[in-house]
Amino acid sequence: MANKMVYLFEEADRTMRDLLGGKGANLAEMTKIGLPVPPGFTITTEVCNAYYDNGKQIPDGLSDEVLPALTHVENKLGKKFGDPDNPLLLSVRSGAKFSMPGMMDTVLNLGLNDAIVEKLVTVTDPRFVYDSYRRFIMMLSDVAYSDKFAHISKHDFEHIFAELKAELGVKEDLEVDAAGLKTLCEKYKSHVMAQTGSAFPQDPYDQLRAAVEAVFRSWNNERAKVYRAKEKISDDIGTAVSVQAMVFGNRGNDCGSGVAFTRNASTGENVIFGEYLTNAQGEDVVAGVRTPTPISEWAAANPTIYKQFEDTCQILEQHYKDMQDIEFTIEHGTFYILQCRSGKRTGTAAVKIAVDQVNEGLITKNEALARVEPELLNQCLLPVIAQGTKYTVLAKGLPAGPGAATGIAIFDAETAAILGKGGEGKKVILVRADTSPDDLKGMLAAQGVLTAKGGMTSHAALVARGFGIPTVAGCSDISVDGHKRQFTVGGTVISEGDEISLNGTLGEVIVGSVPVEDAILTVEFGTFLGWADEVRTLGIRANADTPKDTLLAIKFGAEGIGLCRTEHMFFEEERRPVVQRMILTAENKERAAEHQAALDELLVFQREDFKGIFEALGGLPATIRLIDPPLHEFLPNIEELIEEIATLKATGKSDPAKEEMLRAVRSMHEINPMMGLRGCRLSIVFPGIVVMQTRAILEGAALVMKAGGKAYPEIMIPLVGHVNELRTVRAELEKAAKAVEAEQGISIPYQFGTMIEVPRGALTADEIAEEAEFFSFGTNDLTQMTFGFSRDDSDKFLKPYVAQKILAGDPFESIDETGVGLLMEIAVQKGRSVKPDLKLGICGEHGGEPRSIAFCHKIGLNYVSCSPYRVPIARLAAAQAALGKGVSDK
Ligand code: PEP
Ligand code: MG
Repeated sequence: MANKMVYLFEEADRTMRDLLGGKGANLAEMTKIGLPVPPGFTITTEVCNAYYDNGKQIPDGLSDEVLPALTHVENKLGKKFGDPDNPLLLSVRSGAKFSMPGMMDTVLNLGLNDAIVEKLVTVTDPRFVYDSYRRFIMMLSDVAYSDKFAHISKHDFEHIFAELKAELGVKEDLEVDAAGLKTLCEKYKSHVMAQTGSAFPQDPYDQLRAAVEAVFRSWNNERAKVYRAKEKISDDIGTAVSVQAMVFGNRGNDCGSGVAFTRNASTGENVIFGEYLTNAQGEDVVAGVRTPTPISEWAAANPTIYKQFEDTCQILEQHYKDMQDIEFTIEHGTFYILQCRSGKRTGTAAVKIAVDQVNEGLITKNEALARVEPELLNQCLLPVIAQGTKYTVLAKGLPAGPGAATGIAIFDAETAAILGKGGEGKKVILVRADTSPDDLKGMLAAQGVLTAKGGMTSHAALVARGFGIPTVAGCSDISVDGHKRQFTVGGTVISEGDEISLNGTLGEVIVGSVPVEDAILTVEFGTFLGWADEVRTLGIRANADTPKDTLLAIKFGAEGIGLCRTEHMFFEEERRPVVQRMILTAENKERAAEHQAALDELLVFQREDFKGIFEALGGLPATIRLIDPPLHEFLPNIEELIEEIATLKATGKSDPAKEEMLRAVRSMHEINPMMGLRGCRLSIVFPGIVVMQTRAILEGAALVMKAGGKAYPEIMIPLVGHVNELRTVRAELEKAAKAVEAEQGISIPYQFGTMIEVPRGALTADEIAEEAEFFSFGTNDLTQMTFGFSRDDSDKFLKPYVAQKILAGDPFESIDETGVGLLMEIAVQKGRSVKPDLKLGICGEHGGEPRSIAFCHKIGLNYVSCSPYRVPIARLAAAQAALGKGVSDK
């Protein structure tokens, strides 16, 4: 390799994260600013990448750089690697650019061998020596050999230790004395010999080579791969390896180890938060073998060292200008710092820390805005699993609707509605194989929703997010049996009435109940988002269909409605029969009067709906979309109808209404309804619907205006692919609008526009712009139609696509910039070439996703629209886009 492969801590600094990983770069930085860091060096991530490029061979020349670095460390400490009289022992740690806590391997106490141990026990506590040796044999064997040989993992060594403890008649590790641990070391070495056919390496240089290679290999262990996929960290960046002189916290009562955050990572409070163990190594604190002491108690017992620790925390915060997560060790009364990194924190803590640090003059407002991951704000808004709760995850699905929920499992919407919110008031979780609009009332009555199928833009996910219902969707681990009213995961059976919990933020399904607590919007939350509003240029609207949602969206900072899906109003119980009558009579000329009567009834309902929404908006604009879904969605399920009619027939009865319904449902059946009679096509085939909805919108607006309020309706036509479609609907609509204005005697400031969600619509946006005052990108359908992926069925192949890197991510979650995004750019450019002031927004689910928001900013949209609960996220993401931060590129 041409590049330098090894950097001493003294040779580098924190800017070198790409090359040295977060850990290596920070160890160098702390060395540079004079903190007590045990000496060492870091092997670069380029060496790791070369290792993989070379077919898993350590590149030539690495030892030529490692050996002088090692000599440097030896000289600094006056110790020698492999010298029984004065041995240098090492820790070998992984560390990528982005922190992946606990995912990769680490080896401690490296350099011990039989000869050194034999000598060390004569000069220091023998129990400590044998304990260090047995840990080292286990760790190195586990990380270096367990992928080649069976039965050589940590678990196997623990089993041997457990057997020894049983033989000795003791329970705890600490009860095994030096002689016992010496025997254990012998047993461990015999085990290595028996399993691998070779003795445990005695040459410290061989040990070091094996450990470095093992750390490289651990970059690609299953845990690490899964973690990277979840955190969207690239697989190509590799890990660095930091090699550092060991210091020991377990050499007596004047020793110890601790882990601390410079501020409280849960609440953000400006108080050092952490734990300490006397006479222990760092891993004992993390693994919870013994209960550590809170830092505050340690302060009282050891004021001098505590002061040094406290000063270090101060220095680090001032230097990094961020809350730090640190690991430290005290060896015979000397304080050492072993690691620092930017501390992981909850959403609430992230906001408080950012605001506090601006107030303390540590960072600027823009730095504060750039620092908080927008998605974290989710946690500030929803009920959460109470802090500190320990629970076991039964199954994992898509985190479709954030928040936590507990309740009894119920397997149909009807029962959920009877038992749940608005019914008997019990807490229920609706569990379905998948959901249809029929399930809406059950969903609304439930605390949470769990589905085995469906992706992030599936109906369940979409509605759930809109209503803030914690939801786990597409949970293919579970198999739902609606008839038996149970679901199974492996051998576990959850029956109706059993209590379960969902963590919708992480997509987890949990057996039993977990304590849930309400999120409270803090003062800092308001301040922080106020700063975001000062810098963002994108407008933020919400997708809302009811006054309640509208008010919620405004509370979270929405500046209007970007999508009101009018058909959601048709699903309500009392309206269903009217909607069905309207549909059943639509194609029969002889029943025109009945059809009109049904439309008139719906008009009354819809007028009230829109009036309520305009009132809630208080003069903010509302984009209201005319009916979109295929009509069969409003009709009963065909299989159920057939069954009901057959049952009646079997008992000699009949129901002409049901039979008529069945005929109608059959006649409307479509092979591919998503490509069928829906969107603007409905408005063209059944113009009465456009007229009714236009009237309802404008009459609702007129009522509000006449009462002294303001209303700014923007009427939007879905699924337009050809300008003539829009032209035709517009003609009908304008006729109706003129009639309403004449009847009401006022002019209503409405606009007329279209969704761009069919690829042809995007490609001919210049023609379409002639007929529209605004465009809103429906990126759910645009993605569906550009890829030809069904948005309801694609999770089956999208998961493997992403796993096999055929696609970088799910295009229904984050805009596919090169394909779908290109169509959007074309539409923006063509649309504005005709109308430079054309208002442009997005209302697909991507409108609430930070990466997509950054893209919308880049291509010059005027606003994004998302579900109310994502409004704060969108405000922050839009601010970050304006600041040029985008989303941290992993
Ligand atoms: C879209 O397609 O992106 C959209 C917003 O419409 P819907 O999800 O209702 O089809
Ligand atoms: Mg659509």
